Amino acid sequence: MKGWKLTKPLTLTEQEITVKEKTNKTKVKVTKALLTLSDVLNFSNEESNNMVLGSYGIGIVSEVNSNLFGIEKGSHVYIEPNHPCGECFNCKNDEQIKCSNMQTAGEDYNGFLSDFVMADPSSLYLLPNSVSNFSALFISHISLAISVIDELGIQKGDYVSIIGGNNFANILTQLLIYYQAVPILATLNEEDYQIAKESGIYYVLGPEDSWQKEVSSITGGRMTKFVVYVSDCNIPTNKAFALASYNAGIAFTGTSYKNLSLPTAQAMKKQLDIHFINSGYGNTATSINLIANKALDLSHLKLDSTTFDNVPNTLHSMLKNLEENDKIYETIVDLI
Ligand SMILES: [Zn+2]
Repeated sequence: MKGWKLTKPLTLTEQEITVKEKTNKTKVKVTKALLTLSDVLNFSNEESNNMVLGSYGIGIVSEVNSNLFGIEKGSHVYIEPNHPCGECFNCKNDEQIKCSNMQTAGEDYNGFLSDFVMADPSSLYLLPNSVSNFSALFISHISLAISVIDELGIQKGDYVSIIGGNNFANILTQLLIYYQAVPILATLNEEDYQIAKESGIYYVLGPEDSWQKEVSSITGGRMTKFVVYVSDCNIPTNKAFALASYNAGIAFTGTSYKNLSLPTAQAMKKQLDIHFINSGYGNTATSINLIANKALDLSHLKLDSTTFDNVPNTLHSMLKNLEENDKIYETIVDLI
């Protein structure tokens, strides 16, 4: 097994990855991995672990070591990237979903920028034929969006502002429409604005709009009961808080842990109820079902693509975009 291992900040080395001989894990040939902002941050962070990067991936089962229901050699699978630690208080009390040290691929253990991975059988999900490779790469985004809706307790008819327009923000907004909430997506990026419109999102605010005024007019002056701030949108957080009603639920979330500064005085004045949400663990089967049932239109979302050999160059150019506050395109890595 060969993979791109982070050996020091900004340096990836193609290495042979050794695994223990005796294992009940399943060998999966990775067919596609997705590079996201999270990989870019890990790539440049002094404190990152020396790991094979790549937080999302899909593949084909190449060797099966135990009886797996419905999964056999040649099956197309999605590999769940989050694992509860098994050691924290919540894990030991059978509340793995609330694990306080969730282990993430590419961060805490070797990720998917590798020709093969050895996966725990319980982390494999069979992909139906109706789920394309392109859609399958968004399963984690959808799972995280479900967590956001659950954690905030958003109900039918609730107004929700979404700050940011990237792929995750678009998916969350579509899912809110599917659940009959009333989302308003606000973005400073012209392309994301267009993609949101093409995806059938009704309330989209762009760089030219006065967000506070528009949200006030849509909600009859109430402002929104919920605000979701997507972590890599480069929008000042006070703009997000300005759209919230008194005591609104605010979520900071996204596919990466980018640092943010928060206007706490504004939050205290409105007595906002702030949440930080980073994992969609436990929602994978639901996400696959939503795709299979065509609940979301993913066809307008944009992903770049690159080859396995070109991964280090791609990460360097994504990092450059991050430093220049340009849009970062999540990038498919083709491994076959
Ligand atoms: Zn735990």
